[in-house]
Amino acid sequence: MSSKNLIEEWRNRKERTKKEHQKFLKKLRQQKGKRLDELAEKTHEAVFKKVDCLDCANCCTSIPPIVNKTDATRIAKTLGMKSADFQQQYLLQDEDGDWVMNSSPCPFLQEDHKCLIYEDRPRACRQYPHTNYYEFSKHLNLHAQNISYCPAVFHIVERLMRQV
Ligand code: SF4
Ligand code: SF4
Repeated sequence: MSSKNLIEEWRNRKERTKKEHQKFLKKLRQQKGKRLDELAEKTHEAVFKKVDCLDCANCCTSIPPIVNKTDATRIAKTLGMKSADFQQQYLLQDEDGDWVMNSSPCPFLQEDHKCLIYEDRPRACRQYPHTNYYEFSKHLNLHAQNISYCPAVFHIVERLMRQV
């Protein structure tokens, strides 16, 4: 199936399968550990070979990423701005006290879905959707939420359901 079809499948099925997926992720709490993280890592690699983020960009469109101090300094430098000016123009503090991008879609998302600051993007953008780095089992609650935003997470969970 092509990347676009996989994304379309997510759009069509994510609501109908939500309860089933959440039940499965809840069940995985009892199976936390190395074996699950190894399987999730392989599944992450396989799914991201099929799903092309440039066909999607839903995270950049709908979830303002956390921008920590190191990120802000690096991005400001790339843009030739002072950190304080960058903060004022692009960031706001959310209810948890974290600094995040101040608009959705992200101000650095371009029409072709490429990121204007890709090489220097925030750490949160690099790590999203937290399904690899052998850390899948640490973020089960997050995956349950991200299924609604990220087609790759949806397909990773679908594949894991057939294997676990
Ligand atoms: S900084 Fe780049 S990768 Fe991060 S949300 Fe914005 S457009 Fe997407
Ligand atoms: S939502 Fe998921 S599949 Fe879509 S661009 Fe973001 S990481 Fe890629």
